[in-house]
Amino acid sequence: TSTPTESALVDGSELAGRALAAAGASHMFGVVGIPVTAVATRAVAAGVRFIAFHNEQSAGYAASAYGYLTGRPGVLLTVSGPGCVHGLAGLSNAWVNTWPMVMISGSCDQADFGKGDFQELDQIAAVKPFVKLALKATSISEIPRLVQTAFATACAGRPGGCYIDLPADVLHQTISETEASSLLSEAANPIPPQIPDPEIAEVEKAVSLLRHAARPLIVFGKGAAYARAEGAVKKFVETTGIPFLPTPMGKGLLPDTHELAATAARSLAIGKCDVALVVGARLNWLLHFGEPPRWSNDVKFILVDVSKEEIELRKPHVGLVGDAKRVLDLINREIKDDPFCLGKTHPWVEAISKKAKDNVAKMDAQLAKEVVPFNFLTPMRIIRDAISAQGSPAPILVSEGANTMDVGRAVLVQSEPRTRLDAGTWGTMGVGLGYCIAAAIAEPNRLVVAVEGDSGFGFSAMEVETLVRYQLPVVVIVFNNGGVYGGDRRTPEEVTGPHKDDPAPTSFVPGAAYHTLMEAFGGKGYRASTPDELKSALSESFSARKPAVINLIIDPYAGAESGRLQHKN
Ligand code: ADP
Repeated sequence: TSTPTESALVDGSELAGRALAAAGASHMFGVVGIPVTAVATRAVAAGVRFIAFHNEQSAGYAASAYGYLTGRPGVLLTVSGPGCVHGLAGLSNAWVNTWPMVMISGSCDQADFGKGDFQELDQIAAVKPFVKLALKATSISEIPRLVQTAFATACAGRPGGCYIDLPADVLHQTISETEASSLLSEAANPIPPQIPDPEIAEVEKAVSLLRHAARPLIVFGKGAAYARAEGAVKKFVETTGIPFLPTPMGKGLLPDTHELAATAARSLAIGKCDVALVVGARLNWLLHFGEPPRWSNDVKFILVDVSKEEIELRKPHVGLVGDAKRVLDLINREIKDDPFCLGKTHPWVEAISKKAKDNVAKMDAQLAKEVVPFNFLTPMRIIRDAISAQGSPAPILVSEGANTMDVGRAVLVQSEPRTRLDAGTWGTMGVGLGYCIAAAIAEPNRLVVAVEGDSGFGFSAMEVETLVRYQLPVVVIVFNNGGVYGGDRRTPEEVTGPHKDDPAPTSFVPGAAYHTLMEAFGGKGYRASTPDELKSALSESFSARKPAVINLIIDPYAGAESGRLQHKN
């Protein structure tokens, strides 16, 4: 005779919920519905916190950013068919940015597939282009192992997304409690594979190149941030005196205000350096492919990346495959035996520092002007000062929008690692609210401040309700210039044809009261069109640490079309 517990039956939903908890998922983002509602409730019962969104696109963006911030896969749960398709936004974002994520979607009954079932889709084929691994459970007993495999694969080597398909009939199958427990323990967490170190001879070659360079530079990106390489980066920069350039999301590994920061002398630094140590950053469009004319013809690249394929693609002078922190530790150790330091009077360091100071002074002069109706710079300076006044732990900044993100990148100051989330490698707009929610969940001690355009905000503005529901400390500042890039920029010749009286494709309703959207859910809304109004809204909302939207009224003609990427439009 068996005890009641032994004879109790466990269904696929419960097993999935327990497998997620066993795999170490502390949070899950998503939208419930047929057939996954019970997966969410069972996971919650097993100790996983479920953050319920309005749409899977935002939830997917949240899961991807959570993976970046925590180093553990962010989990997205979606319904079948259309839910899975909406989730592809997040999955593709994880893939392009190389962040660990696991997407789990319900799917239609296997027996009815091909007959035109409710929300029928070959979901494995749909996710394939964006994942490291796509798995489908064909019977309940496979669930624990698939969950463990997806979690381990998402983080192994170059991080990325994995997918698990859970058909409705599999979720409804049952097994005994005894069998469930043994399946869960058999699938126990595997020991993560160690990333091997690069050959020591290659490390020596890299150090020798740096030692003999006339104009060395270190560039680091979000791969170094993901690797938590800030300590090793600091040691490298401070012992060698080599100037550094962070990519947008690499900002904060060392403070932007550091005397060796080349951020404000970016064109000079990349245009004139002769040896560039690039750590956890791809030589893609964000770094001008590492090619002339932006880089010099004979620059020698030393690339550090966890991905061998990435290094093979770029064919650098020296390629060091490995974990960014570990490789920098090896480099630092190699330098320690025979240290070198450029020093402040080194001509290259002086040139960078002078250029950076000049550019900062020019920017400060622009920022000092108080322009009302607001341009982008005046409010950005006020926001910068309010964020800096928060001290440590520094707020996490979420940024999107063409002009808002461009100006924000130049003006806002990052002083701590992994405190900037922006449109990233995908150049995606609409990530803002999802990123805010992920940041507030992943880093509960930090305030989260979103600085975004009205267009970026509009993609997922309804998620302000999610902020209120979970009472997250997020202040969303909407740069409201009434449209994508702002006011109507068409020439009179372009305003013609039968639909000439329609609003421009770039326009929204002028003067939209975005702050009242937040008030509709019981959050705090502010409208700010003057420096005093903005300062008071920032000071009140930052100290309240409660969900707030600041509707910041900007001159509709202050920005440029396509921001800094006009040449690509
Ligand atoms: P950015 O946008 O900051 O320039 P990218 O996303 O282009 O950065 O590049 C990040 C790179 O970091 C990717 O090529 C990825 O393979 C790599 N990477 C990810 N994790 C690690 C790690 N632990 N160590 C080294 N490199 C890593």
